[in-house]
Formats: sequence, C-alpha cells, structure tokens
Amino acid sequence: MEKIRTRYAPSPTGRMHVGNLRSALYEFLVAKHAGGTFMLRIEDTDQERYVEGAVDIIYRTMKETGLIHDEGPDKDGGYGPYVQSERMKTGIYMKYAKELIEKGEAYYCFCDKERLASLKTEVDEDGKSITIYDKHCLGLSKEEIEANLAAGKPFVIRQNIPNEGTTTFHDELYGDITVENAELDDMILIKSDGYPTYNFANVVDDHTMNITHVVRGNEYLSSSPKYVRLYDAFGWKVPVYIHLPLITDENHKKLSKRSGHSSFEDLVEQGFLKEAIVNYVALLGWSPEDNEEIFTLDELIKKFDYHRINKSPAVFDIVKLRWMNGEYLKRMDDDKFYEMAKPYLDKSLPSDYDEAKRRKVAGMVKTRIEVFPDIDSHIDFLRELPEYDIEMYTHKKMKTDAGSSLSVLKDVLPILEEATDYSNDALYAKLLEYVTEKGYKNGYVMWPIRTALSGKQMTPAGATEILELLGKEESLKRIKKGIEKLSV
Ligand code: GLU
Repeated sequence: MEKIRTRYAPSPTGRMHVGNLRSALYEFLVAKHAGGTFMLRIEDTDQERYVEGAVDIIYRTMKETGLIHDEGPDKDGGYGPYVQSERMKTGIYMKYAKELIEKGEAYYCFCDKERLASLKTEVDEDGKSITIYDKHCLGLSKEEIEANLAAGKPFVIRQNIPNEGTTTFHDELYGDITVENAELDDMILIKSDGYPTYNFANVVDDHTMNITHVVRGNEYLSSSPKYVRLYDAFGWKVPVYIHLPLITDENHKKLSKRSGHSSFEDLVEQGFLKEAIVNYVALLGWSPEDNEEIFTLDELIKKFDYHRINKSPAVFDIVKLRWMNGEYLKRMDDDKFYEMAKPYLDKSLPSDYDEAKRRKVAGMVKTRIEVFPDIDSHIDFLRELPEYDIEMYTHKKMKTDAGSSLSVLKDVLPILEEATDYSNDALYAKLLEYVTEKGYKNGYVMWPIRTALSGKQMTPAGATEILELLGKEESLKRIKKGIEKLSV
C-alpha cells in the first residue's frame, strides 16, 4: 500500500485561525493514524497578505499543540524546499506553467488593468467580485506573443478551460461533484510578479511533494475542479480530497475575528489549555464511534478515522469548550494545577497569604472553575468583603432569616473572639459545641457566618475554612459588620 503523506500548508498571514488549526490537526491525524508522514509547507506566494512574524507563529503553534511535522523547512525529508517562495526560485512553477502552455492548457495574457476593469464581474461566495476573463489573449498569434515577451510587456499565465463540457472530481465527504466547464474561469496560474497563485502552486507542490491526502477548508471546494483539470493535463494522479465543513459561530455565521475567539492564540489568552483546545477542535466536524469526547492526542491518533468526518457545518460553541477545559482542569495533577493557577491566585489573593494558604485555595477552586481566569470570581471576597444585601441571610432550606442570623452572629462573636486556634478543625469543633448546645441544625449557624464572611451566595469553601483563611482579625471584623448590617 502507498504510504500516506499529508501536508499542512499555511499562509503566513497572522494568528492561527481555529479553521486552520483543525486542518492541521486532521492532516496530522490522517497521516499518523496510518503511520504516514506529516509535512509542513509554508505558502508565502501572496506577498500582499504576508505578515511579518507569522511564520514564527506557525512554528510555535504547531509545537505547542503537539502537531509535530516529520518534514518541513526545518526538517528536510528530500522534498524541499518547503517554502513556496524558495521553490519559486528553483523555477519549478514557471517550468510547469510553460508545459501547460505547450499542451494548450494555459496561455499568456497581456491584458492591462483598464481592459480587465471593463470585463464582466461576478461575486464569489465571500462577496468578493471576480473578473470573468473573456479569453481575449487566447487568440493572440505566436508572433504577437513573442513580440510582447521580447518587449518585456507584463503578463500573467492563465489556465485554459474550454467553454463546453463538464469536469468531475471526487471528494471523500461530498462524493462526486460535476460542474459545467463554462462556470469555471480561466484562473491565473502565474502572476505578473512571477509568483504562482495558490491555485497553481498547490497542485504543483502537492504532486511533486508526493502528497496523497489533502485536507482543507471547503472554501477550496469550488476551485477543486480547476485543480483536477490541471492534474489531468499533466497526467498526474489526483490526491484524495477531504474538504472540511464550515465552522460557524453560535449565530451560524462563519466564525470570524469578531467572535473574539477565532484563533488559537485568542483562546490561549482567554485561559484555555492547549490540550483542551486541540481536543475540542478535533470534534469540530468529527466524532468517534463511541461518542467519547475527552482524549489525548495519542488517543486521537488511534481513533481518528476520516470517514467519520461530518459534512454539516460545525458550530464553535465556547460554552462547550469551557466545559471541556474544566474537565481538563479537574483531571490535572494538583502540583501542576497550582503552578498554572499561581499567577491568577497572586492577582486575586491578599499579598500576605503564604504558600500553604495559596495551595489550599487552589485546591478549593480546582473543581469549580472552567478556565483559570474564573478564579477571581470565586475568591475575590477573600481580598475584600463585597457590598451585599441582608436579604442574603434569608435561606429557606436552612430556615434562616435576618432575625435568626443576627442572634446567631451575636452568639458566635464571643466564641470566635476567645478562640486562639484558627484552624478549620478547631473552629469547626468549637462551633459544633454551640450548635449542639442550642439544638440547632448546622446550616442554621453556618449559613449566616459564611454570609457575613463572604457576602456571597456561593463560595468555594465552608464557613470554618473561610475563617481559617481570613484569620482572626479579619474574620471578627466581618462578623461585626454583619451584626451591624442586621441591626439597622
Ligand atoms: N495556504 C492555504 C491556506 O492557508 C492552504 C490551503 C490548503 O490546505 O491547500 O488557506
């Protein structure tokens, strides 16, 4: 059987979009699942879209996500160069373009801007207007072409697509697709600056680099018949095409920068774990047979069968990603969690908390947060008692209200004043004595204490744990404040 070779072929235009990350991940998985080779190719022929530093982002993101390529600009596998601008310098694209011209499958076009501007335009699926070229230069004689070339007249090379007939190609997800040739434009293969277009370079490179499976976004689906015509013209074998479904936002619109979470780096900045992002992105259009949802990259490699990719649009659901991230945090080793949570704890906690206290707080929030930045909302009350309404003292199940709370707080104030051991256990034992003596239910006493200490309905810890964290002085201050609020 032929060895599977896939490629991730990003254009260095900025941050890695979730859609690109998914293409990279699926390409990686298709190769690794079959013991094949995963290659990185930098597609930098569009000089207008080139962004300084974007190549570094690509390397960094691939490393951080664990999508390690077997071949690429930094790892020669015998198919280099792996950067298209360097490939161009070898003359490869021009050589093949000229071969097409000889075969009658392409032609020089010398039309200037003014003439092109006068031609009919159509709007493509992204709303961009594209010129429908009228094959004017196909009619030039050999002499005219040579004279133009000799005079140094700027030119592009266009694909020659007949106006009659149809072209059929196969996609693994979409099946056989047949289009009328008349609908296909004579796209530019070589631009006037001598660079190939993506449309041409992807075909030449995928073939010459021996790529067997092409996985990419379905924005390339409509151009694929033109690519297939190029393969046929050269007599090359067409790779297996897998065009992935669109990724939309919650409103079923194409996921865009405006969503605020469209790139890998956006998500990392929002506190998502790299492993969780990769795990979530794997499910944007694919699911395993057993419908399991949490897996490591190694497990994904084992499970990933591209035949299970779904055609329908995948909704990027930030709520689901948050849930998944929370699952990763719950399963994280305590020490690692502490190390990662530290910057957030440092920001939220009073500066005099020692490491033991900080670790305790980390343990309390670990199962409660979904992303690290959630930490503050759970523990902000430790830093400062928020303003709260005395309504909060009323709890139906605990059978408490403002009156009962006032009398409990008044009773426990001297107990807490006398106590010298402010550990959770010692305080719990002391308060239990009071509870038993009065014949109250635990919650009847703990609810008002916790409310006075936190000013919150929900806290990551019980009353006595909070007493321990706050310490005697601060605890007493807050209990007195509660009494004061309830007394008016
Ligand atoms: N350079 C193209 C992009 O970044 C790659 C598309 C492909 O995978 O063929 O969108």
